[in-house]
Amino acid sequence: MIQTSFWEQSVFLRPRDYLIVGSGITGLSAALRIKELQPSASVAVIERGTLPSGAGTKNAGFACFGSLSELVDDLNHMSENQLLDLVFKRRRGLQLLQRKFPNIDFEQCGGYELFTSADQDRYESCLQFINHFNQKLKKEVGENVFVELSEFEKFGFQGVSHIIQNRFEGALNPGKFMRELLRRCRNADIEIFSGADVVNIDETSGEVTVSTTYHDFTCEKVLVAVNGFAQKLLPGVDVVPARAQVLITKPIPDLKVKGTFHYDRGYYYFRNVGNRLLLGGGRNLDVDGETTTVAALTKKIQNRLEELIAQVILPTVPNVEIEQRWSGIMGTGKSKSVIVKNISDRVVCAVRLGGMGVAIGSIIGEEAADLICKT
Ligand SMILES: Cc1cc2nc3c(=O)[nH]c(=O)nc-3n(C[C@H](O)[C@H](O)[C@H](O)COP(=O)(O)OP(=O)(O)OC[C@H]3O[C@@H](n4cnc5c(N)ncnc54)[C@H](O)[C@@H]3O)c2cc1C
Repeated sequence: MIQTSFWEQSVFLRPRDYLIVGSGITGLSAALRIKELQPSASVAVIERGTLPSGAGTKNAGFACFGSLSELVDDLNHMSENQLLDLVFKRRRGLQLLQRKFPNIDFEQCGGYELFTSADQDRYESCLQFINHFNQKLKKEVGENVFVELSEFEKFGFQGVSHIIQNRFEGALNPGKFMRELLRRCRNADIEIFSGADVVNIDETSGEVTVSTTYHDFTCEKVLVAVNGFAQKLLPGVDVVPARAQVLITKPIPDLKVKGTFHYDRGYYYFRNVGNRLLLGGGRNLDVDGETTTVAALTKKIQNRLEELIAQVILPTVPNVEIEQRWSGIMGTGKSKSVIVKNISDRVVCAVRLGGMGVAIGSIIGEEAADLICKT
């Protein structure tokens, strides 16, 4: 612990009503909601990175609420009511983003699921469910969501036999989204401490002490919104880190791929960012190796991503150059559902957002804020 002055102690490190650990979509949305509910409350956010350093600034920016095969597959793991609740929540999350965040390059470009001849059985089972899910989702969306595309040569893919479109999916710019959340927090008088890694949370009867590598903060209540990094602070909670690797190409003249795309059961995903191609996935090639909180790239997965570009996505485009590669950490677990719950009277967590935090992060943050404010 480093030495502090009287001024630091009485101003910067003074006790707060609420501390949020983690400045991702969930943590920042929760902070804003607490200020809406209790305008005079003191709220501060503690973040280990200089920038928000979780999935919020690393993700692919898919504003998605489910490809058809994902929904069909999810029926094997949860009841239809649970599944529809989750899908509706994602859909409402996207509507909330469109309504509240006009400047994050949100585009309802449509989501496309690709099937090859090897996926024929899966494709046929999707067709059996297409009317069923369209009927169910109509209650929320008002129109048919899934459409079987008969013509898709315009994309220029190779080896793709069928495509099913989700007409209501879209894409956004995650950097602009996070920057806007930070800006709104600052405007709402929410203090943000960056570069402060929380190493311990200690609850006594009167307050909670949140220790970072440099300083201790105290507060009435804490929200832990660290998603894939939860094991360190919440050892009993079922969150497993899942690394995801991504790359983006240099600009490609006349890029035909426009929209968001899912390939090979969603193990791969790609979209256009202007005239660049962003592609991610391949965790299934090394599930054990990718179960980590360490940000890193591996040859095995990066090579496979490049192979997909050459063989399936842009087979006729010569010399595609990669501009940047990165990885980020998601929070997963045995179940696909998000965990928002009290750890104790003074500590709440909102974690395990899986690969859907862009859609539901804001709603989950608000739910967590509602919970911590009424606890
Ligand atoms: C490569 C990649 C692609 C993805 N693509 C999509 C997509 O296209 N669409 C989609 O919906 N979802 C996608 N996701 C998932 C989505 O980004 C997440 O679900 C979402 O960002 C989770 O938000 P969060 O705020 O809960 O967590 P995070 O954004 O991970 O935020 C947690 C924050 O806590 C901080 N933190 C962690 N530990 C500590 C500590 N001890 N002390 C202080 N701070 C700490 C972290 O630095 C981080 O800033 C993707 C994820 C990755 C990694």
